Amino acid sequence: MKSIDWANLSFGYLPTDYNVRITYRDGEWGELEVSDSEYIPMHMAATCLHYGQEAFEGLKAFRGQDGKVRIFRMEENARRMLSSSRGIMMAELPVERFEEAICKVVKLNERFVPPYESGASLYIRPLLIGTGAQVGVKPAHEYLFLVFVTPVGPYFKAGFKPVPVCIMRGYDRAAPLGTGTIKVGGNYAASLVAGDKARNLGYTAVLYLDPKEKKYLDECGPANFFAIRGNSYITPASQSILPSITNKSLMQLAEDMGMTVERRAIPIEELGTFEEAAECGTAAVITPISQIDDLDENKSYIYTPDGKPGAVCEKLYNKLRAIQTGDEPDVYGWVTVLD
Ligand SMILES: *Cc1c(COP(=O)(O)O)cnc(C)c1O
Repeated sequence: MKSIDWANLSFGYLPTDYNVRITYRDGEWGELEVSDSEYIPMHMAATCLHYGQEAFEGLKAFRGQDGKVRIFRMEENARRMLSSSRGIMMAELPVERFEEAICKVVKLNERFVPPYESGASLYIRPLLIGTGAQVGVKPAHEYLFLVFVTPVGPYFKAGFKPVPVCIMRGYDRAAPLGTGTIKVGGNYAASLVAGDKARNLGYTAVLYLDPKEKKYLDECGPANFFAIRGNSYITPASQSILPSITNKSLMQLAEDMGMTVERRAIPIEELGTFEEAAECGTAAVITPISQIDDLDENKSYIYTPDGKPGAVCEKLYNKLRAIQTGDEPDVYGWVTVLD
């Protein structure tokens, strides 16, 4: 293996040694299989190709100062994949089978877990797809659950550095009562045009508004949104956003720091009242927002006039990272230490 430049990894795909798979056929899940192929043999009429029966997850493993490998909150990912499965009528993989697969694939690829000092981590990507052939619009009878891993650096090249985002009312990533609350590829397909447009204008992401009224803040494409005002951690409650496990963790940490957590509809007018704003997610961790430009109304909200992350974002970031790497005790039982 060519040696990996851990400190300069991007958020991209780097091949590793193995992936693991479980097939659902004749009404039941089979054995866990180990594969060294990067390909999936598939029927051309598979429902994932035609009717979007596809859900995915994203979580990370970290190497601690003690050399041990820690996986963050995988039970939450297992449960969320169950909810995605119900949302688009796919076979439901039991939580224990999901966890078994995650531990196995991380162990098999342990040499790809970046060293503690690098700040990089091993990204774990579970995938569930309908593989059974179907020409009419109906759920498949066969499914494939697959997990691959890849070492990653920060999602945004800037790392823990504030980035600009924009608001564009011409695009939605999810419908008001659609699939925004589950982690399915279809939502991402719907976000590609707006994302590309935003990047071409120099923004790292689109901050979507609620698709029904365009009055409230939703989320930032692949990451949730939160803001800080005084002693409050404020994050949207909405029928069209994905319940982020990172956000859930940060709400807990904020509360433990003595902050008030407000999870509620956030009218766009409040943008001018926040002291800090940020995106959060497994990939983004916490990515502070430097400014939000409302491109339709021609307004700008600036959160980091000196270009530095806000103090509360920084504190939350450090706390979360410390738990993930084992520098601080895992009082919530969020971490699975591999033996
Ligand atoms: C995955 C995802 C997030 C982040 O969720 P985490 O569990 O924190 O990784 C946020 N928004 C969307 C739309 C997502 O798909």
